[in-house]
Amino acid sequence: MRERSTPTRTVNEQIRAVVKVDPGDRIPFFCECGQATCHRSVWLSLDEFATRRANGGTILAHEPGRRRRPPPKVTVP
Ligand SMILES: [Zn+2]
Repeated sequence: MRERSTPTRTVNEQIRAVVKVDPGDRIPFFCECGQATCHRSVWLSLDEFATRRANGGTILAHEPGRRRRPPPKVTVP
């Protein structure tokens, strides 16, 4: 099991604390999957962010535990 407190989670809390936007405006938070190589962003409004946090959820840009599949190769004729 991963620790619940990840660096990105801390950063997200700081963003949430200092950002000045309307509750309905979406801003990019960091994915909290805990992978050092993941730099995805998740666009959420402060309300949506608060709702996820209230449910004890982490902010994820993708489903955790699923292996990243390489994109299908596209052959251009
Ligand atoms: Zn991620």
